[in-house]
Amino acid sequence: MKYDVIIIGAGPGGIFAAYELMQRKPGLKVAVFEAGHALNRRHCPIDGEKIKTCIGCKSCSIMSGFGGAGAFSDGKYNITNDFGGTLYEYIGRKQALDLMRYVDEINLKYGGEGTKLYSTAGTRFKRLCIQNDLHLLDASVRHLGTDINYVVLENLYNDLKDKVEFFFDTPAQSIEVTEDGYLIRCAGAEYTCEKCIVSVGRSGSKWMEQVCKELGIPTKSNRVDIGVRVELPAVVFSHLTDELYESKIVYRTKQYGDNVRTFCMNPKGAVVTENTNGIITVNGHSYEDPAKQTENTNFALLVAKHFSEPFKDSNGYGESIARLSNMLGGGVIVQRFGDLIRGRRSTPSRMNDAFITPTLNATPGDLSLVLPKRILDGIIEMIYALDKVAPGTANDDTLLYGVEVKFYNMEVEVNEKLESRYRGLYIIGDGSGITHSLSHASASGVHVARDIAK
Ligand SMILES: Cc1cc2nc3c(=O)[nH]c(=O)nc-3n(C[C@H](O)[C@H](O)[C@H](O)COP(=O)(O)OP(=O)(O)OC[C@H]3O[C@@H](n4cnc5c(N)ncnc54)[C@H](O)[C@@H]3O)c2cc1C
Repeated sequence: MKYDVIIIGAGPGGIFAAYELMQRKPGLKVAVFEAGHALNRRHCPIDGEKIKTCIGCKSCSIMSGFGGAGAFSDGKYNITNDFGGTLYEYIGRKQALDLMRYVDEINLKYGGEGTKLYSTAGTRFKRLCIQNDLHLLDASVRHLGTDINYVVLENLYNDLKDKVEFFFDTPAQSIEVTEDGYLIRCAGAEYTCEKCIVSVGRSGSKWMEQVCKELGIPTKSNRVDIGVRVELPAVVFSHLTDELYESKIVYRTKQYGDNVRTFCMNPKGAVVTENTNGIITVNGHSYEDPAKQTENTNFALLVAKHFSEPFKDSNGYGESIARLSNMLGGGVIVQRFGDLIRGRRSTPSRMNDAFITPTLNATPGDLSLVLPKRILDGIIEMIYALDKVAPGTANDDTLLYGVEVKFYNMEVEVNEKLESRYRGLYIIGDGSGITHSLSHASASGVHVARDIAK
């Protein structure tokens, strides 16, 4: 089976590459191979009643399938070069922002119309933060919400399905370089193409590593972000979230000089588990529909850990810490801030006494047995700093879920076209290590599609 272009992975990177190819060269024969299910078959079995924690499905519906890791996410498209990836280093700042705006337009066209675009530029909070040694980063953020994000994906799929061939539940096993392109092997079948776009995201990181090794594509890896997800009554952060929705705030700790940052803020949202290669970590999302909103807001506090020689396995380090929490708690551990600073574990009865209802059923425990001291000290310092701009953050009943880990794929060597050392083999999205967000991953897909169409 012969194609002009094969796209591996149907996350935002792959979808937007397919979309743009069909806009610019509708005559191209394009196939998309996706390890996970079609969108309508994606379903996480955790229902909070019969199944309360992750049961380790063969294909995790949170991370895999049409829509990729972002399908049930909060659908926050941050239009900025300040965070979410380093795409601008490859394609230029202006081009990166233009592509992110273009992606935003498509999202609006496919069902996101009417959703709100928030901006931190010129707000009074910048001053309030800096007066308290906190730094609010600049961004515009389109909040689609989990529900509208799904509608947009559904509409995109309905538009693409007759123009592009989708193969679901079909993980690519290998990529071989041939004389006139590439040979892709999937379970029991072989497919050839002239150009190949690899967009396998975080869930495909191990496979990506293997492909790079086999094809001799240089990579580097030295970063992992480790921390907790904070959950508190929505009213504590409402002055910030009502105006900005998401605030990316950075704090440099006095004790170690480490940067701690807020990440993925979900006003009136829910805390959820995430399964990466069998390891259970924590994440969060929220709905645009008021009927589905909760009384709590959640966000992550993360500390970036960069390693230098000789240690190279930063993701392995993050995994080991996550495994510790899985070992002690059978999954995610939750602890009240008051218990943490008093040096005692949270117990079911202490949790019952709390004036907050957790949105995730996690095991009450002690995060100080899991997180390295330096990271935990940084998080505690940041909570007290945030308490000055959002009083109540350091209340005893503030919940900390652990651990949240942001794994970074190793960075793959590509040029300004996001093309590897092989002509016509493009590596994009989170799988390339260059992007870490919906908007950057989507923009990288549009970028390579335009190059191919040219
Ligand atoms: C719960 C959650 C919430 C999030 N919230 C946000 C948010 O609000 N805003 C934001 O900017 N980012 C968010 N993110 C991150 C965001 O989802 C990712 O940055 C984005 O999806 C990356 O897109 P991608 O296309 O590069 O990879 P992915 O979305 O990971 O897609 C890659 C796809 O490739 C498939 N694949 C892997 N290996 C193979 C293989 N060998 N063969 C075939 N297919 C394969 C996978 O199944 C997957 O579907 C969130 C992530 C999670 C998990």
